[in-house]
Amino acid sequence: MGASTQLRAGLSSRRRFVGLAGALASALGSSRALGSTPNATTADAGEDYYDKLGVAKIINAAGSYTTLTAACMPPEVLAAVHKAALHPVRLRDLQTKAGEYVAGRLRCEGAVITSGASGAISLATAACLQSANKISPLSMPQAIDPSRDADIKNQVIVQRAHRYGYDHAMFLSGARVTEVVTLDDYKRACAAGHAVMTNFFNAAEDEVGLAGSAQIGREEWLRVAHDHGIPCHLDAAADMPPISNLWKYTGMGFDLVSFSGGKGMRGPQNAGLLLGRKHLTDLAAENNNPGDGVGRGMKVAKEQIVGMVAAVDWVLSHTEESMQGDSQRRVDLIAERLQGLPSVRTETVLPKIANHVPHLLVRFDPAVTGVTTPEVVAALRNGKPSIELNPNTGQPPNQGIPSDANTLVVGVWMLQPGEDAIVAQRLRTALTKKA
Ligand SMILES: *Cc1c(COP(=O)(O)O)cnc(C)c1O
Repeated sequence: MGASTQLRAGLSSRRRFVGLAGALASALGSSRALGSTPNATTADAGEDYYDKLGVAKIINAAGSYTTLTAACMPPEVLAAVHKAALHPVRLRDLQTKAGEYVAGRLRCEGAVITSGASGAISLATAACLQSANKISPLSMPQAIDPSRDADIKNQVIVQRAHRYGYDHAMFLSGARVTEVVTLDDYKRACAAGHAVMTNFFNAAEDEVGLAGSAQIGREEWLRVAHDHGIPCHLDAAADMPPISNLWKYTGMGFDLVSFSGGKGMRGPQNAGLLLGRKHLTDLAAENNNPGDGVGRGMKVAKEQIVGMVAAVDWVLSHTEESMQGDSQRRVDLIAERLQGLPSVRTETVLPKIANHVPHLLVRFDPAVTGVTTPEVVAALRNGKPSIELNPNTGQPPNQGIPSDANTLVVGVWMLQPGEDAIVAQRLRTALTKKA
């Protein structure tokens, strides 16, 4: 090894040591004393694996979509994750204490940190199957097979308009769906005695009374099921903000409520919450990893458990106004910078239940701008950095967003600081007809 090679090796190992020291300092919480954010310190310490793998980093002007890796964790949450990563603990001890802490902060009897809202729905179903049939998690594979035992209860009652892809999360435990439309259907299904649970898709209530939509609202849904002793699960995965939803639905009587951890709550994407009655969340916990129940494959590592708890603290450190204020400012900034473009009009919409944050609609006339919606979407996606607009762009009205073929939808709540200005400038360029 020549002298200069040695020097380089020495330098790079020193750099590695400094990097490691920085990571440790950050993880141990001294990053503030060092005058840098935990985010920056830890980011500096490691290699950029997105670059190494050739994966494009995007600007997320869409929203908390799973396929876009949902939220980025705030620095406080990230710091808690890094600290947790440094020490092994007893997993069950961590799960129990984390559940108790979250239940206390979110004003419910019991809580389980799950692998996400979908995992929470599976554990909720397993808990209700167990409770209704008085079986243990290990006997579930036999116990839920109605071909072997005609008396087994395995039905989840759902309104037809509330059927969705997440039904699979219930089927996983061997449950099947009894579909109802009218209140009479529902009363009959409850009285039949086969139901272990009901499932209510929270955001679907937005449309109660509209043609083809659900006929039964939350209060009535709860009353009828509870008259028959059937526990009610509510899927509120994407329904925070408002912050108060974290206790509103358990407070109104839902026995179990699921939230996604990586959407509005800005926790790890593979984390979520199951909140509710203690005897049911205890059964859900029995089915969770590391037991042999249905949740064995829904592992939540110590980093995600701690990250989820820290995300709850982060959410509760806000007021409703501070939670929404940033989004409105970004909407206003982008709208202002699009002013004066021929035919372009902007407006703010606030979806009522899911994704309840200000979104910007940009309406335009392609005959005037000379560009179409798909062309704008492609220009933003193919440019650098790549920008993803909200998938309601160019679509008919959906989930409280009144879009159409000539409307761009900008979801601003997942933008990182400073990205609003970039999105505005790129939109302005894309909407300006090239000479
Ligand atoms: C996102 C979502 C889920 C799944 O949440 P994960 O945390 O990704 O598992 C379930 N239900 C609804 C309504 C959702 O929006």
